[in-house]
Amino acid sequence: MSATAPSSPPSPPSRPRDRRVSQRIGSIAESATLKVDAKAKALKAEGRPVIGFGAGEPDFPTPAYVVDAAVEACRDPKNHRYTPAGGLPALKQAIADKTLRDSGYRVEASQVVVTDGGKQAIYEAFATMLDPGDEVIVPAPYWTTYPEAIKLAGGVPVEVLADETQDYKVTVDQLESARTDRTKVLLFNSPSNPTGAVYSADEIRAIGQWVEENGLWVMTDEIYEHLVYDDFETGSLPVLCPALADHTVIVNGVAKTYAMTGWRVGWIIGPADLVKAATNLQSHATSNVSNVAQVAALAAVSGSLEAVEEMKVAFDRRRRTIVSMLNEIDGVTCPEPKGAFYAYPSVAGLLGKEHDGRHIDSSADLAEYILEKAEVAVVPGEAFGSPGYLRLSYALGDDDLAEGVGRLQKLFGG
Ligand code: PLP
Repeated sequence: MSATAPSSPPSPPSRPRDRRVSQRIGSIAESATLKVDAKAKALKAEGRPVIGFGAGEPDFPTPAYVVDAAVEACRDPKNHRYTPAGGLPALKQAIADKTLRDSGYRVEASQVVVTDGGKQAIYEAFATMLDPGDEVIVPAPYWTTYPEAIKLAGGVPVEVLADETQDYKVTVDQLESARTDRTKVLLFNSPSNPTGAVYSADEIRAIGQWVEENGLWVMTDEIYEHLVYDDFETGSLPVLCPALADHTVIVNGVAKTYAMTGWRVGWIIGPADLVKAATNLQSHATSNVSNVAQVAALAAVSGSLEAVEEMKVAFDRRRRTIVSMLNEIDGVTCPEPKGAFYAYPSVAGLLGKEHDGRHIDSSADLAEYILEKAEVAVVPGEAFGSPGYLRLSYALGDDDLAEGVGRLQKLFGG
C-alpha cells in the first residue's frame, strides 16, 4: 500500500489580522490622579524634594486593631480558601449593622456585595444598571473614574457642571435640563471628590424628590461619609428620601474612613435583584475579595470610629491652612470645602498669562509648570471634567502642606 500524504485542513478564510486592543478598552483614559501620584513618587525616588498633593489617601496608618485581626486571619487555614463571591456572611452583616449605626439606613445583609474597593463597586453597579445607550447624569467636577466606568458598561455620561459660584453643587433645574428619555441614573457623590462639596439635607431631599418623580436610579457614593466638617448638616440620600430605597445603590468602603486604601475592600448596597446580578457578575470576574482583607474590614466596621475622628481633627486643621494660604495667591480662588480631604481652587486668574517667560493657557499646563518649577504635584481640573481648576489633597503632613503651598505662593506671588 502506498502511503498518501495526509490532506491538509482547509485554510480559514483570509482576513487581515487585527491585533489592536478593543476600541472599548483602548479608549479608557489612564487615571489622572494615579498618574500624578506615580510621577511625584518617581521624582521623589530620584531624590527630588517633591511635595505631593495628588494622592487621594489618608496619610495615617491603618488602626492597629485592624492589622492585628488581619495577622490572625492569615494564620487560620479557613482563610486560605474561597469565600462566597458576594463576601463573608459575617462581614455583610457587619456592613448592614454599620450602615444603620452611621447613617440610620436599615438594610439586610442580603443587600450587600463586598467588592475589591469602592472602584469595583462603582464598576459593577453601573455594569448592572445600564444597557447600551443609557444615560447617566454626572455632576461635574466629578471623580475621574465615574465616566470611564459608565462608558465601560455601555452607558453615556452626561455632565452637568457646577462651578465655584454655586459651591460646586448642582441644582434640580440643572439636572432637569440634562434629563432626556434615555436618562436612567443620577450619580451622586457627597462629600465630593474632587471638590470637597457637601450637599445639605434640604438639597439632598430636593434632588431625591426629582429622582423619584422621574423614575430614575440613583447611585450615591458615600465613601467620605465620616469626613464632614463644621457640624455641617447632611445625611444619607435613602434616609432623607425613604421612597427611593428600591431605586438607590450605595457605594462605600473602608479606604478613607479607616486609612485602608491598600486593603481593597468596598461594597455595594442595593435592592435584592441588583445585588444578585452584581454578585453573579463578580463571581465570574474576581470571585471573592481576599479573605484576609475581608477579616480586616470586619474588624474595622465593627470597631469604633475613634481613628477617623482623630484623622478628622488633623484634616480639619489642614483644610483651614490650605484654604487660607491658597486664597492669598493672586489669581487663585478657593471656596472652603465642607468635606473629604481636597481643596479645589479656581486658577482662572493665572491662565492666559506669561509665567517666567512661558505662556500658560490651561490648568493642565499649569500643573506641569508647577511640578517643574516648584516641585509640587497637583492634579489639573481636566481630570475631573472642569478645566481651569486644580485639586490639592490635604492628606499630607502639616509641614509638607505649608512648605508646598508656600512654594506656590513664591512661584505666583502671594
Ligand atoms: N469614590 C470616591 C469618590 C473616591 O474618591 C474613591 C477613591 O479615591 C473611591 C470611590 C474608591 O475608593 P477605593 O476603590 O479605594 O475603595
